[in-house]
Amino acid sequence: MPSLIHKLSALALCCATLSAWLGYPAPAMASAPLAKVRNPGFYKMMLGKFEVTALLDENSPWPGQLEELFPKMSAEEKASVRSRTHLSANVDFSTIAFLVNTGSKLILIDAGGGRVENYGQIFANLQAAGYLPEQVDDVFITHMHPDHIGGLSDASRRNFPNATVHADQREMPQYQAMAAKNNATGRTVLAKITPYIDAGKYQTFNGDTTFYPGLRSIASYGHSDGHSFYAIESDGQKMVFWGDFVVNEKVQFDLPDSIPPGERDAQAGIVLRRKVFGEAARHGYLIGGAHMPFPGVGRLRSLGSSYVFVAQDYAALPNRS
Ligand SMILES: [Zn+2]
Repeated sequence: MPSLIHKLSALALCCATLSAWLGYPAPAMASAPLAKVRNPGFYKMMLGKFEVTALLDENSPWPGQLEELFPKMSAEEKASVRSRTHLSANVDFSTIAFLVNTGSKLILIDAGGGRVENYGQIFANLQAAGYLPEQVDDVFITHMHPDHIGGLSDASRRNFPNATVHADQREMPQYQAMAAKNNATGRTVLAKITPYIDAGKYQTFNGDTTFYPGLRSIASYGHSDGHSFYAIESDGQKMVFWGDFVVNEKVQFDLPDSIPPGERDAQAGIVLRRKVFGEAARHGYLIGGAHMPFPGVGRLRSLGSSYVFVAQDYAALPNRS
C-alpha cells in the first residue's frame, strides 16, 4: 500500500504535468513589499483583578550602549557578559510606563519623556489600549529624571488633567537646587511638575507608604534621592515596578554589582540590588522595568551569584472577545 508521502508526491507530479499540458503558468511564490507597520506599543495582562498595561514611550537603537551605560566595566567583563548573554554593543533601548486599572482607580506609573525626540509615544499607546489621559486618577513617579516625568505636561498644560502626581518628598529638592543655579535639567523638571503644584494636584510622601489597598511605595534610594518602587497586589499576586533600578537586564542580572549611569549614590544602589534581586528571585513576584525590553515584565531566577530574567509569557488576554 503506498505511503501518504508517495500519494502526495504523485499528486504534485500529476498537477504539474496537468498545468503544463493545459498551458497554465507554473505556480510561483508571490513577493510582497515589506509592510512597514509598527508593532503595537502596548501590552495588557491581568494581575489578580488588576489590569496592567505596559505602554511603550520610546524605543531606539543606542549605539555603543554597553560602553556608555557601564563605563566602569572592565574589557574582560564586557567580553564575558556579551558572550554569555548575546548582548550586542548596539541594542534597542525602551522606555516604558505602566498603567494599572484596579477597578476603582486608573493609575499611571511614570509618564514617559514627553514630546521630544522619539519620546511621547505613551499618548497614542494609551489610547490604543482603550484609555484617555483624562481618565487617569493618579500618576506615581519612580523618580524625576526627564524620561519619567517629561510626559506630565506641555507648556503649563497638564497632560493628565484629572490626575494627582505623587513622588517621594526627597525627589524634588535636588531639582529645585539645580534650577536655582539655572541648570537646564532642573528647570525642565520644575516646569513639568509646577502645573500640578499650581492646581493643588501634587502630593509628596515619605518613604514606604500605602496609598490604598493593593498599592504601596517602597523606598529604593540610590539611583536618585527619592527613587521609589511601587508594589501592587491583587488576589495574592504581586508585581513591583522598579523604575531605573535596572536599566539593562542582561548586564545587571549577570553582574549585579555593575554600576548603571546617573546614580546619585552608587554604593547604596549596589547594596540595594544585592538585597532586592535575591528577594525577587526567592519570592518569584513579577517585575516591571522602565528600561527592560518591552513590555518589560518578568521574574528573576537566581543562579547563585548572578541572575537571569525570565520574561512573562505572552498572552492575548484580556481583550479576547
Ligand atoms: Zn530612566
